[in-house]
Amino acid sequence: MPAQIDQAAYWDRARAVVPRGVSSGHRVGWDQVMVRAEGAHVWDGSGKRYVDYLLSWGPIVLGHCDPRVNQAVTDAMAVCDLTGIGPQYGEVEVAEIICSVMPCADRVAFCTSGTDATMHAAHLARAATGRRKMIKFHGSYHGWSDVVAVGSARADSTPESPMETPNGGGLHPDSLADIILVEWNDEVGVKAAFAEHGPDIAALICEPYIHSFGCVPAKPGFLEMLREQCTANSSVLIFDEIKTGFRSAIGGYQSICGVTPDLTAFGKAVANGFALAGVAGSEALMGYLGAYTGDRATIDGTYNAAPYALAAAKKTLEIMQTEDVFERLYYCGDRVRAGLQAAAYAAGIPVSVVGLGSEWAVYFQPTAPTNFREALRSDGATYMKWHALMVEGGIIQPAFPNGDRRLCAATSDEDIDLTIEVAYKAFAAIA
Ligand code: PMP
Repeated sequence: MPAQIDQAAYWDRARAVVPRGVSSGHRVGWDQVMVRAEGAHVWDGSGKRYVDYLLSWGPIVLGHCDPRVNQAVTDAMAVCDLTGIGPQYGEVEVAEIICSVMPCADRVAFCTSGTDATMHAAHLARAATGRRKMIKFHGSYHGWSDVVAVGSARADSTPESPMETPNGGGLHPDSLADIILVEWNDEVGVKAAFAEHGPDIAALICEPYIHSFGCVPAKPGFLEMLREQCTANSSVLIFDEIKTGFRSAIGGYQSICGVTPDLTAFGKAVANGFALAGVAGSEALMGYLGAYTGDRATIDGTYNAAPYALAAAKKTLEIMQTEDVFERLYYCGDRVRAGLQAAAYAAGIPVSVVGLGSEWAVYFQPTAPTNFREALRSDGATYMKWHALMVEGGIIQPAFPNGDRRLCAATSDEDIDLTIEVAYKAFAAIA
């Protein structure tokens, strides 16, 4: 692809051969076509450079096209590719690191996407308990398998919408029969669900720190209560750490909050952009992974544990273990949050900037939401005006309200200075 292209024409070409021009739902809403990425930056087809705070929704944690990671992948590719026989090249080494850093991990199995990982975690929980129902939280996204893709429809949701809906067309409406939806941070709702359905509940799945609709922590004691309820009811506690894993801390948010789930679905930042995901958990539970029998869950995939992705993961995790990656992510995150909040305040716009480490959300409402319904009360129209001005100023953020955004270890102080400067102007312009 050339370094400079006619972006409108390229979108037209894309729409002629790919529905809506994209192969992933949220890639619309842009006029740009990105033709280059390096470190904290992406360049569009006109040659314009942007500071990237989308980072492909999470995988890019060190920086785009990190040369150390790419070299490790090239080195691995030169030796061995997929064989489909036994442990794949590099699999043991990455599993060993994950087992050493993630509290719940005695065993790890790999797949290729977060959708795979949460689906396998659900299958595992059902196989281990012999039960069908799962509890999940309103607005929480866990990928597109029918077992979890309910209760977090976004585009057409309002604060008043019912939560008992599939996330899109074509999903099996009967999936809803086995999912109990509760509002995030609703302790009474969780306890009521267990009181009513306890013996049928295979698992409760949640992001331990919600990024599905921005950045919404659990209230004090909430995660501990989830742990207690799952243990008391012999249900499996699944943490979806696809965004928090290897980003909030190398061991995931579970290593910060001190609550250990039975199973963890991970992905994204583990391999700095290469397609690797997986399920980690206790020896007993992971033992329910077998193959092709009636009482064991199966994990099976041609591209599972691909050596290229494993090489990327090994290098990414080694860099995290030997360099001050997390200090950098937290320092930069704190700077951006403080700067954006001050910029909104200076313009007199009611905005709440909240987040953790490298991740933050910019809610166009005076107080930070504690659940999905509250998040939906943000002023989306004003957000979109602000977003357009930020893009004009060279700052990439989600092209819809309430999305989480994040930085990478390659983000520089100059990038942050620029971001804050552009934000002051953008907030002032919409005030
Ligand atoms: N769970 C969470 C919390 C996610 O953020 C995502 C992706 N944004 C997924 C699951 C699905 O992951 P993938 O896109 O890799 O299928």
